[in-house]
Amino acid sequence: MKRSTIWILTVVMAIALLGLLAMQIVYMEKMVDMRNSQFSEIVMRSLYSVSTMLEQNETKYFLDKDLAEAEQMYSGISENSFSFGESKEANIDTTLNTEDPANLRPANRNTLKDLNDSYQHKQEILRGQFLYQKSLLYEVILTILNHSSDRPIQERADSATVASYLRSELEFNGLSLPFEFAIVNRTNGVVYKTSGYSPMSQADVYSQVLFPNDPKNKRNTLNVTFPNKSDYIFSSVKFLVPSLAFTFLLLGVFLYTISVAFKQKKLSEIKNDFINNMTHEFKTPISSISIAAQMLNDDSVRKSPEMLKHVSGVINDETKRLRFQVEKVLQLSLFDRKNATMRLEEEDANANIYNVINTFKLKVEKYGGHINANLDAEDPIINVDRMHFTNVIFNLLDNAVKYRREDVPPELTVTTVNPDEDHIQITVADNGIGMKREDLKKIFEKFYRVSTGNLHDVKGFGLGLAYVHKMIDLFGGSIRAESEVNQGSKFIITLPLYK
Ligand code: ADP
Repeated sequence: MKRSTIWILTVVMAIALLGLLAMQIVYMEKMVDMRNSQFSEIVMRSLYSVSTMLEQNETKYFLDKDLAEAEQMYSGISENSFSFGESKEANIDTTLNTEDPANLRPANRNTLKDLNDSYQHKQEILRGQFLYQKSLLYEVILTILNHSSDRPIQERADSATVASYLRSELEFNGLSLPFEFAIVNRTNGVVYKTSGYSPMSQADVYSQVLFPNDPKNKRNTLNVTFPNKSDYIFSSVKFLVPSLAFTFLLLGVFLYTISVAFKQKKLSEIKNDFINNMTHEFKTPISSISIAAQMLNDDSVRKSPEMLKHVSGVINDETKRLRFQVEKVLQLSLFDRKNATMRLEEEDANANIYNVINTFKLKVEKYGGHINANLDAEDPIINVDRMHFTNVIFNLLDNAVKYRREDVPPELTVTTVNPDEDHIQITVADNGIGMKREDLKKIFEKFYRVSTGNLHDVKGFGLGLAYVHKMIDLFGGSIRAESEVNQGSKFIITLPLYK
């Protein structure tokens, strides 16, 4: 896959995922808003009903009271005298009564007169009753208008009644949620409240004016709060939480996949570079050896011992070069295998290091530098794979020369000491270009190269130190680096001694 394709995929996937996430969040917000307004509507409707019920209650109270009073007042008076405050109408009825019978024929006079009398009598009773009820109602209405607001609100809307009305109205509207309430007067002074009533903000309070016909200065308000309101609101969007979690999971997996894709891309690029480089590096020694072999076929060369020595020297040098390249390929392939094949054996660290230094001496001297060895560790027997241990020391020395300063001859120092009786400490120090602190943290990572490394036109793949780190780990030791820009670097390895 091309790098640009990975980038396009990344951008498209990122837009899609972020869009999905944004839509889910917007949807959640909308749901919460909807639920909130639905909640408010139910509560306000219930509060209005409670207020109406309290008013009806009050009317009934006055009606009962008036009825009781009226019954007491008229209990002694005869049943037919219903001219309660309306004597004029009763007088008209009496006039009608005495008019008709004189004009009728004598045969039917008596029967008709009886019928008429009873009808008139019934009408009179009904009329009387109607007027009585009407006047009673007028009086009650007048009393309500004039005097109801004189009664204390605790009596007109007592806490138990309000609570039971509220509960039944809310339940009727489909809201069975615990609530707290208070009745406050016009100046917001609390008349009474339930024990849990303590609103955090005015937005949590739902209010309804009680007895709206009361004079303004005597008006009271019913305030209700719902302590579990937010739980109730969020229960409606709870089912969206898993979908949100899945989206985040998808985002995580996507980021991981992209990072793997980029890493693989880099790895394959580096491997290609490596192979190109390698084939080029292999070609030179192979052609040198092949020329040397052809020369050996020449009689004149075979007869001159000096020429023979020169040719064999060339073959020897070029074979060494080849071996070094092969080792590098092996080092790279090590990273792809889960468990590097190790042949651990007892090894004299000082002796091994001494050999590597010897083969390296010429290279350092070529640049006018020196390599010093202070191999003072006692009983330096360690349990390592010989080939890999040699490679480790070799890589460190190779870097020390590769990253030398252009104008200063390389001075390398290899030291071994015993920090305690169970360990050996190997230090490879140089006077090269050094590194910045932030680079120092990363140099042991695979493929990490300090960018200034390129300025010096030094070839490398950022694998040498990663390999060193991995090997030292497998040997049960540790490695750290110290460095100062333009002063030099120091790599310190600690390994357990073989006992
Ligand atoms: P490579 O040498 O192939 O780039 P390494 O893993 O050996 O990879 O080193 C990683 C980086 O650490 C190098 O690119 C280089 O910048 C820095 N480095 C390693 N050794 C030294 C040293 N002795 N002095 C200065 N910089 C070093």
